[in-house]
Amino acid sequence: MIWIILLGGICASFMYAVTEAKHFSILYRRSRCDSCHYTLKWSELIPVVSFILLRGKCSYCRSKIDIGAFICEVLLIFFYLLPLFYDLSLKDLTLYYLMVTILIPIALNDFKTFTIPNHMSLLFLFTGLFLTDLSYIEPFKDVVIIILLHLFYFLFSDSVGYGDIKLFTVITLVTPVNFFVYTILLTYIIGGLFIIILHFYRSDMPRKIPLVPFITNALILSFILYEEINTIYFGGFL
Ligand SMILES: [Zn+2]
Repeated sequence: MIWIILLGGICASFMYAVTEAKHFSILYRRSRCDSCHYTLKWSELIPVVSFILLRGKCSYCRSKIDIGAFICEVLLIFFYLLPLFYDLSLKDLTLYYLMVTILIPIALNDFKTFTIPNHMSLLFLFTGLFLTDLSYIEPFKDVVIIILLHLFYFLFSDSVGYGDIKLFTVITLVTPVNFFVYTILLTYIIGGLFIIILHFYRSDMPRKIPLVPFITNALILSFILYEEINTIYFGGFL
């Protein structure tokens, strides 16, 4: 279990940096402070622990460290441990781990910048197709879904970004078709509930709301409830 915690923390800080990266040098240069470029010591690179010990500040210039990286580490460790304590309903652990590893950093980045880096969607597409062995590809249904997604985008282009459409396209190619349908439904159910709740607490609504955090929630929920939703969907309740 300690190894999974370590792995989660390390993957999180790496993937978070890759998501933010504008340049390939991130892959080989030493980690450093974003504001004073002070090179971090190994003891300042321990996931979760270092951030708490440093109280979220650079030890050299005292400027704030991006809290996104810390949140990413905590979330990834949690979701890496989840399958140990809870039986996932869709039994595809490879896909589960790939999904949380790539999508949680993208979700945090979307929350911060309202963008989805293209290199992350591409990374998701290629590793996804490779690791699932193309087994979830259903050419006819996938093409129909991709056309519908684009139609939706051209009709409602102010309510959804093209980055989201690209990400949905990748998800439909690397997951089973019905899994994808549940994910879209859940994304808008969770997103809708969130907006209703937000209405109670804020009079000024944000003009833009990042979609990837909801997509990620929906994907994880679909993983946990896959068989249950299947039963409801195909079991005659609807
Ligand atoms: Zn600094």
